[in-house]
Amino acid sequence: MNRRNFLKALTTTIVGSSIAPMETLSKFAKETSSLQWNGGDIIIEDYLKKIEGAKLGQTDLNLILKNDKGIKPPYNIQSIQNQSIQTKPQAIPQKKPLPILENEDNPPVGVSNNHNIAEKAQPIETPSENIAVHKSKEEILNEYIKKMRAFNKSHMDDLYLDGKEFQLLKSSAIKIMRLKKVVGHGNFYLLSFDEALKIARTYPSLKNFTKREINFLEKLFYMDASIFGFFDKKPLRSLTHRIKKRKVVKVSRTGNYLFKGLPVKMYKKIKKDAGRQAVLTSGVRSVMKQFQLYLNKAYQSNGNMSLASRFLAPPGYSYHGVSDFDIGQKGYGVHNFTERFTRTEVFKRLENLDYISLRYTEDNLLGVRFEPWHIKVDPRA
Ligand SMILES: [Zn+2]
Repeated sequence: MNRRNFLKALTTTIVGSSIAPMETLSKFAKETSSLQWNGGDIIIEDYLKKIEGAKLGQTDLNLILKNDKGIKPPYNIQSIQNQSIQTKPQAIPQKKPLPILENEDNPPVGVSNNHNIAEKAQPIETPSENIAVHKSKEEILNEYIKKMRAFNKSHMDDLYLDGKEFQLLKSSAIKIMRLKKVVGHGNFYLLSFDEALKIARTYPSLKNFTKREINFLEKLFYMDASIFGFFDKKPLRSLTHRIKKRKVVKVSRTGNYLFKGLPVKMYKKIKKDAGRQAVLTSGVRSVMKQFQLYLNKAYQSNGNMSLASRFLAPPGYSYHGVSDFDIGQKGYGVHNFTERFTRTEVFKRLENLDYISLRYTEDNLLGVRFEPWHIKVDPRA
C-alpha cells in the first residue's frame, strides 16, 4: 500500500465510522499495524493532531436529515450516524431552486450553482442491512471519494438547517449582503463582526441584526464543522477576530488584499514565474466575508450545511483569514473557481513550481472539494 492509498483508506474510515474520530483512529491504527507501509504511524500521528479538538457531539444548531424526518432536533451526532446507516434510503426531497441572493463575481459562490440545486437528488446506492458492520474499508473509501467528487450535489447523510434556522440564515444573509453594498467590496474584505453590527445599527438604510440572528451566527461560528464533514483546522478562533489594516496590503487592479510578508512575497514570485496571465482572484477575507460566501452557498443549497461545507470553508475555518490566496488566469472569470482552471496555462505553470502547494488537493482528507486555485501559504515554512 502506498502513501496515497493509505491516506485515502484512513480518511474514509474516519468519515464512514459511526464512532468518535479518536476511537476510530486508534482502532484503525491497531488494525493496520501490519500494513506494508512504514509511514503509516506518522500519518496517523499527523492526523490525530489535525483533528485534535474536533469532537463529534451535540450542537446548538437545529439540524435535520431530509431523508429521515423521524429525527427531532437537536440531535446527537452518534444517533444520527447510526440511524442514517440503518434506515432505508428514501428519495431526498428537493425544493425548487432558490434565487441567488447576489451575483458574486468573485470568489466561489455563485459558480455553477443554479443548475446543480435544480438537479434531482442523485441516486444513492442501497445500503445493505447492518452496513456499518459489513462495509469494507474499500467500500467506505469509494463512497467518500465519490461523494467528494460530487461535492455540489445532495447526499443521503447531508445535514440541513431546520425551517426556523433556515429563515434566520436567509435574513442574516440578506442583511450581510446589504451591508456589503454599503461598505463596498474592498472594505468588506477586512470588516470584522463587531464593526458589521455597529454599521448595521448606525446606517439608516440598514436594518439592525436581531438578537436571534446574532445568536444564530454565533452558534454557526463556534460549532465544530466536523459535524458537516469538514475536518480542517480552524485558524480563526474568535468570532470577533479583527484584521489589522497595517498587516495587509491592497493589490492593485485586483480589488483584493494580501497579508504582508510571506503571502506578498509568494504572490510576487508567482507573478514572475507563472506569467502575466496569473492574477490574484481572492486574498484576505474577514470573518464577515467568509460568512457572506458561506451563508450564500448554504442558502442556495436549501440549507444543506454539509454541501456548503464541501464547497467552501465555514467561517473561522478559512485560511484566507490568515495567509492563503487564490490564483486564476486573467479573463477566465468564474471558471477560475472550477476544475476547468486545471486546463489553463497558469495552472500548468503553477504545477511546475516547486514552492507551490495547494491547500485542498485532489481527493483530500479534509472533506473539502479539490481547489486547484487555492495556494497554501504556511508562515512557518
Ligand atoms: Zn481560496
